[in-house]
Amino acid sequence: MKPIQSTLKAWMQKNESFKDNYVKIRNEVLNDPEIKEFLSLHPNLSQEEINKSLIKLYEYTTQSKQCDQCASYGSCKNMVPGYSPILHVEKDEIRLSYEKCHSRVMYEKEREQQKLIQSLHVPKEILQASMVDIINDESRIEAIAELLDFLDQAKTKLPSKGLYFHGQFGVGKTYLLGALANELKKLGLSSTLIYMPEFVREIKASFKDDSTNEKIDYFKKADVLMLDDIGAELQSAWFRDEILGSVLQYRMMERLPVFFTSNYDLEQLELQLATTKSGVESVKAGRIIERIRQVSKPVKMDGPNRRF
Ligand code: ADP
Ligand code: MG
Repeated sequence: MKPIQSTLKAWMQKNESFKDNYVKIRNEVLNDPEIKEFLSLHPNLSQEEINKSLIKLYEYTTQSKQCDQCASYGSCKNMVPGYSPILHVEKDEIRLSYEKCHSRVMYEKEREQQKLIQSLHVPKEILQASMVDIINDESRIEAIAELLDFLDQAKTKLPSKGLYFHGQFGVGKTYLLGALANELKKLGLSSTLIYMPEFVREIKASFKDDSTNEKIDYFKKADVLMLDDIGAELQSAWFRDEILGSVLQYRMMERLPVFFTSNYDLEQLELQLATTKSGVESVKAGRIIERIRQVSKPVKMDGPNRRF
């Protein structure tokens, strides 16, 4: 608001026919329907105060109010984009202030929501997945119904169990997680979606800067944890027992849900997890499978391969 006031003042001072212009502007401003209404609501304002505040009133008339002249935040025409002027009277003086406009509030809310999805190495198309795009075909009806059920419950309280989607490569398992993350975002719930092979790499890389515990904590405490493609990571006994095991243990105790996708069903995954460089460790793998069962419910997905 400053720039317009000072430029206008300077212009008025320089202008030879200052008086004529002043009268012209005064008439224009005082005949503006919004100003008329404002003044009629404040009949006690003195002529002197009105004359003194003419520049503020003029500024008010030039600005878009609550987006009435702009289509979106991006196309805001106001001096301070995203802010809308308001006139009010305080101690018999006219005051002009600015408040955030609807578009700016919406824009900020969207940005805030975007932050709710923490994804690590997930393709963009997955992050843009929407529930509406999910084709409700026979083969995936169960998975979608379970997902909708979870969302319904999450509206009142976050359920303690997520889902374990298993099925062939390309049936849309990861896509479902993306759509779920976007729906949860609307409820203000954050999701952490990570591709399992990257999870292993991420933890290994954290040795260098001593951030391992911090990273593990982050996965333990996320509202909703989504582990994409479990079984596809390089199998390591240490990662399985110390990292995955402890994250799942924590979430099981705290009743926090975990979602998984996998090309393996739980029996096949057990074999996969058992086989590491350290030999075949069925008991330890069985312990992980038990925890997966505690934090999620298995759902099989069939259908055509959607990868072209
Ligand atoms: P999976 O994780 O089971 O291997 P993806 O979720 O990666 O499969 O899906 C394979 C491909 O199909 C991806 O390119 C994904 O964007 C697309 N896709 C999956 N489900 C849908 C859907 N319901 N609508 C549109 N595209 C989909
Ligand atoms: Mg996938």
